[in-house]
Amino acid sequence: MALRLWNTLENRQVELEPVTAGEVRMYNCGPTVYSDPHIGNFRSFLLGDLLRRTLDQRGFKTTQVMNITDVGHLTTDDVADASGEDKLEKRAKEEGIDPFEIARRYEQMFHDNALQLHLKQAHAYPRATDHIPEMIQMIEDLLKRGHAYTVEGVGVYFRVHSFEKYGCLSGNTLENLDSGSRIEVDDRKESAHDFALWKIDDKHLMQWDSPWGRGFPGWHIECSAMSLKYLGGTFDIHTGGEDNIFPHHECEIAQSVGAGVGEFARVWVHARHLLVDGQKMSKSQGNFYTINDLVERGFRGHEIRYSLICNHYRQPMNFTIEGMDGDTKAVQRLRTLRNKLEEASAESTPGAGADPVLDEATRQFDACVDDDLNISGALGVLHDRVRALGRDLPRGSAAVRALDFLRHCDQILAVIFVEDEAPSDDLTDHQQQRIEQRETARNERNWSLADEIRDLLLAEGIVIEDGATGTTWSRQR
Ligand SMILES: [Zn+2]
Repeated sequence: MALRLWNTLENRQVELEPVTAGEVRMYNCGPTVYSDPHIGNFRSFLLGDLLRRTLDQRGFKTTQVMNITDVGHLTTDDVADASGEDKLEKRAKEEGIDPFEIARRYEQMFHDNALQLHLKQAHAYPRATDHIPEMIQMIEDLLKRGHAYTVEGVGVYFRVHSFEKYGCLSGNTLENLDSGSRIEVDDRKESAHDFALWKIDDKHLMQWDSPWGRGFPGWHIECSAMSLKYLGGTFDIHTGGEDNIFPHHECEIAQSVGAGVGEFARVWVHARHLLVDGQKMSKSQGNFYTINDLVERGFRGHEIRYSLICNHYRQPMNFTIEGMDGDTKAVQRLRTLRNKLEEASAESTPGAGADPVLDEATRQFDACVDDDLNISGALGVLHDRVRALGRDLPRGSAAVRALDFLRHCDQILAVIFVEDEAPSDDLTDHQQQRIEQRETARNERNWSLADEIRDLLLAEGIVIEDGATGTTWSRQR
């Protein structure tokens, strides 16, 4: 049975037929590294990871690429108007800290969280800021082919009316857009729906030279340029959250196909929104969880992972702490059985051979995964078997066979055999940087910034004390 996925582009389930037999090239829309990655972001990244693990288990030669969006979209105006912005970031700007430095710090946090949640390492994590020449090249190609135009002193826009297939992914065709909601009129653009490829704005904190003036790229062009570089102009799978469908992914298609690089992605897979306590997650509602928040509450990486993957990626997910408690018990049952089986397998006797019941369970588990990553179905199969095995614990080589079954399932799930790292005695890079930043703030007698950084560290379980001999840190117990 082949892997079948719901393809947003065709609005139906399709069988995965790679461009090159036996090889799958996949692009995952990655993190924007200007705020703490939250559990909704990770639900989408975990969709990419589940796909990666499934492709690996099915024997494909997989290439997985995830971009790091580190071109900030903040201007000096944002410094003046800090509403909704990360306070530290605002302060950092006021203190004159390099925006690249902030981006690197959040990038590190993303990688730390990904490790905690046992995501497989992608084959590349290209940063947008490292690929400005590639983006400029693609914009030049679009200009040459009539899909883009320049506006003096403003930048370069994509001409949506030149791209017939616009709307093919989201259904937001130009006709539908025109009849839809109010659109802000901008005289500088040929059409209100045209989107920026290059923007000139001297207030922007990150700037690069280009043939059209010093400025910065639009968000969408990075994914078109980087997927082309790492995966080619036609590749197999593109993933993201459902909020990426429009305008981000629609614009990616217009740019890549418009630039003539190929067909672009064939199968588009999108994770549904995650709600918390039945509401859209928001910092002001107080229902905003980062991975670090959950770790602080005592949840371990594999438990958070289980909770974020255990229902279908296309079903809306409602996250609650009570639900997490229940999920924690469920994953604990799997791990308890593993421990018992490991003990029981010590007295291994050769020749247990095949076990038709476990073979059938394996087949059912795989069938669920192949059916558009139906992880909840697969978990149902697994838990049924685990209950039965717990009631009548196999011993010796039969226990070895049962462990093989668990291991097979865990190649996808990564919750049973993974070990969570004990909190290390070292600070992470970004914590170290925060301490140094706080030292600077104290030297400059900026006590409020120093206090703010101390609170941020405390939120991560790091206690800062200023003594006669200097500042020390310890881990909160
Ligand atoms: Zn993207």
